[in-house]
Amino acid sequence: MNGKRAFAADIFGKFGATAALGALRVKFSDGITILAYHRILDVDSEHKFPFDIELVSASVQQFTHQMEYIKAHYQPITFSTLLQYLDRGENPPRGAAIVTFDDGFLDNYHNAFPILKRLGLPATIFLSTGNIDSQETFWYEKLSFGVMTTDASTVSTPTLGTLTISSSPESRRALIKRVTLKLKLAPDEVRLAALDALYAQLLPSWGWKNDARSGPMNWNQIKEMSANNIEFGSHSVSHPVLSRVTLPKLAFEVEHSKHRIEAELQKPVQVIAYPVGGVEAFDNNVRAAVKKAGYRFGVSYVAGIERPDQWDAFALRRVHVERYVNSHFFKAMLAMPEIFI
Ligand SMILES: [Zn+2]
Repeated sequence: MNGKRAFAADIFGKFGATAALGALRVKFSDGITILAYHRILDVDSEHKFPFDIELVSASVQQFTHQMEYIKAHYQPITFSTLLQYLDRGENPPRGAAIVTFDDGFLDNYHNAFPILKRLGLPATIFLSTGNIDSQETFWYEKLSFGVMTTDASTVSTPTLGTLTISSSPESRRALIKRVTLKLKLAPDEVRLAALDALYAQLLPSWGWKNDARSGPMNWNQIKEMSANNIEFGSHSVSHPVLSRVTLPKLAFEVEHSKHRIEAELQKPVQVIAYPVGGVEAFDNNVRAAVKKAGYRFGVSYVAGIERPDQWDAFALRRVHVERYVNSHFFKAMLAMPEIFI
């Protein structure tokens, strides 16, 4: 994936061009770089990993190097700090960067937080509060575990038809990708009915709660992080695609998640990251509900770097960090986002 761009990044990196361009960008641009991570995890064998491997953004070592680079070359801030600048009518510092994580995976606490704390870096974590409350892992993780580990050779649902599950891990991953994509775009009640049917066939004895392999952090861990420079935002309650739910459910998802975090942390929640986050995930209804609930920013999963004088505060773009991003590619993405993201 991204082979040509990774190759170009290697070439740039070897000749030192990325570092020079990165320094120029920080010096002359007003851009704000919002980095998007999900999980920070060391995976021994991708073949055997039963959860969504695409959500592993970096190993512990990769993340350490990336944060050291951010600390050396950027001005890491949070959305709250950004709002303070904007509300005073000032520009954020040159080279402002916001490190974000979606979902609220337990490994953010065990693996990312110690590194952030050691380096003195702030970050923002977007929580799906229903999972924090229930301590159940996220629906796409449960689906992934079901497909990767099931003994069933076929499953069928009215929406998805009959699906053949072959023995190879690669084809199972491809199947997860297809099913997840289809369910994300379906009306929410269709997604939930299909998931129930799939879980019943794939995971007749599902008893998974959270542990290091997949699952959410808990409120005590969140409070500890909140007291140590980590900001929390909403990622809805149950991680539906917000543009696919009914209006009452939309209001509940954006309001209740905000209130839950505020009640636990006694701090205002001013930013939401739209679950899934592509352009199809936040329509005008979603934006209206988010504004009505009192959010100041809506963060998407669309790729890009933002400028405060040009941005749409309810469609902020991010730079995605994926596990195949080596250090040259990381620097190239930040220095030349027009080419590398
Ligand atoms: Zn998410």
